[in-house]
Amino acid sequence: MAGPNADLIPPARPVIGDAEIEAAVRVLRSGRVVQGPEVAAFEEEFSELVAGRHCVAVNSGTSALQLTLMALGIGPGDEVVVPSFSFAASANAVRLVGAEPVFADIEPDSFNLDPDAVAAAITSRTAAIMPVHLYGHPAAMDRLMPIAEQHGLAVVEDACQAHGAALGGQPVGAFGAAGCFSFYPTKNMHALEGGMVSTADPALARTLRLLRNQGMEQRYANEIVGANMRMTDVAAAIGRVQLRQLPEWTEQRRANAKFLDARLTGVVTPPVADAARHVYHQYTVRVSEDRDAVQQELLDRGVGSAVYYPTPIHRLKPYLGEDGRPGPWELPETERAAREVLSLPIHPSLTQAELERIAVAVNAVAVAR
Ligand SMILES: *Cc1c(COP(=O)(O)O)cnc(C)c1O
Repeated sequence: MAGPNADLIPPARPVIGDAEIEAAVRVLRSGRVVQGPEVAAFEEEFSELVAGRHCVAVNSGTSALQLTLMALGIGPGDEVVVPSFSFAASANAVRLVGAEPVFADIEPDSFNLDPDAVAAAITSRTAAIMPVHLYGHPAAMDRLMPIAEQHGLAVVEDACQAHGAALGGQPVGAFGAAGCFSFYPTKNMHALEGGMVSTADPALARTLRLLRNQGMEQRYANEIVGANMRMTDVAAAIGRVQLRQLPEWTEQRRANAKFLDARLTGVVTPPVADAARHVYHQYTVRVSEDRDAVQQELLDRGVGSAVYYPTPIHRLKPYLGEDGRPGPWELPETERAAREVLSLPIHPSLTQAELERIAVAVNAVAVAR
């Protein structure tokens, strides 16, 4: 029965276990399925992850980013400094509110925004900086926050890949005006689909609650124009189950990373900055030559991998200039990362035998070049 890929190790393995299914069924049977007590409880429980900040649940990470920018009053005429080396959602959220993304280059080690490049990208139109904690490694918030303060800019953290990451003991999502999380199935925890905004500002939290629900706090007493970006109670119930498992899963990801760090040769393993707690949403190595061929050879050995992201955002169609060419961005580290990165399986359900197989395959393929 075994097909050629029967023992393929997939790059991600989302969990929908009995506890998740039972939680969803319990809510479905209750008949109260839309935003209600499960969402409120999920928000309360998630706030522990972000130093007790207010939490507002929404229907996706992209919605979290978009609503946050709206709530901060960012729109047409404004610029937001973002990395081009991220998932398109980071820049899409900026465009969705009518503002313009300004792309800054990344640091080669952490793959995150380079604070010097951010400082150089600030103009009189800049309204905010959006650091992305890519792969679960915190951005250099210790250097980015003073730059934002000096220029009076809001900081919106894209923490969609970094649930539980921290810098100097401070959790991501607890630095900026707001932190935005995703609960898409492949993230470190999921709610099928979903998102969360964290903020220390109760007024911003209230605006976010209004914006996600047609501008209403009291039914039919609409205060502002809002969207429908509510999370369902079914999703929140699943999210709550996953949140309880997150600490254990994160430790397993970190242990898996430690094992690979010690075993891999011929590739550059992911560096971790001083004082950073990396939660390894991805375990991303650099392959300096023939990355795509290495990926194929790993697949031939039953090891799945993925490239996040092969095309930097500034080279995606919606972000090209009117002439169909990329704008005048100077992003050498972004371009190099897009050519070299390869994310290996790191998910918590990997067995020791699978980890061994990954190490043996990578070492065989990389050393053979
Ligand atoms: C997943 C992700 C998002 C968007 O989250 P969704 O829940 O898929 O909308 C935004 N930014 C980054 C960096 C992501 O990885």
